Amino acid sequence: MYLPKIGTLRFRKSREIEGKVKNITVSRQVDGWYVSMQTEQEVPTPVHPSSGMVGIDLGVAIFAQLSNGAAYKPLHSFRRVEQKLARAQRQLARKVKFSSNWRKQQKRIARIHQKIARCRHDYLHKISHEISENQAVIVVEDLQVSNMSRSARGDADHPGSQVKVKSGLNKAVLDQGWSEFRRQLEYKQAWRGGLVIAAPPHYTSQQCPQCRYTTRDNRRSQAIFKCVACGYARNADMVAASNILAAGGARRVSLWRGRLAELCEAGTPGSSCIMQAGARYPPPSGGGGCQWSILNTAMSGSGSSAGI
Ligand SMILES: [Zn+2]
Repeated sequence: MYLPKIGTLRFRKSREIEGKVKNITVSRQVDGWYVSMQTEQEVPTPVHPSSGMVGIDLGVAIFAQLSNGAAYKPLHSFRRVEQKLARAQRQLARKVKFSSNWRKQQKRIARIHQKIARCRHDYLHKISHEISENQAVIVVEDLQVSNMSRSARGDADHPGSQVKVKSGLNKAVLDQGWSEFRRQLEYKQAWRGGLVIAAPPHYTSQQCPQCRYTTRDNRRSQAIFKCVACGYARNADMVAASNILAAGGARRVSLWRGRLAELCEAGTPGSSCIMQAGARYPPPSGGGGCQWSILNTAMSGSGSSAGI
């Protein structure tokens, strides 16, 4: 491989490179250098093999609850090795700064961080793969993860309330990797010809699926939902997942008959296109047109990566 200013390099090819290489990114990690190549190739418009549709409730106690009943446990990757990390960091503090033992210890800490990140990625990929494989339409709650994980302490002008509670939640939110999970679902669905719809997150955990009565009192505990109006009782995460599914799909599901790719041939803005229901993929600035067709043309790339 030839890189400008560096010259010709040898690298370990971890997979076949398909298509025309468009650009190469070189990155440094604790254990070495990595190259990843972005390629371009023509692919036929994918048609999702499944006709399933599912709502997902993302939570702290259960990482992902699907409206069809499947549930995925949280990884807690960070907490599992947190003690190991803390010990390594204490050892670092006892060493003389910039000494060779200090450097060695720092490398050890970086390795622990890398391990955590890789475990988390692996787990998220397994879940997102499984869901994407079986469901043509996935409805997720449009959580503003970046808002949720913003500092709980606030600033001088706007001091935060319930700082302790919120920073505990922040830790859990960041640990879960919800936004990375969303990203994976979206590109995997685009590859397969499926769809991710982001539904507004209003009252999904408080509304009764049976009589539609909405109150905070419906959810007295973390785990149990019990409607104060009609008495309907069910697992609270399942209620949220079905509400999310309903929010994302109810209006458009009659339009959709298994073949998403055939949905919006016309591509006219304002027409009842399923992509405009979720509007997860922002329309191009200044341009109209169907987001669905944009999504398909944007997904002609494929990634390859290899270690040097
Ligand atoms: Zn009810």
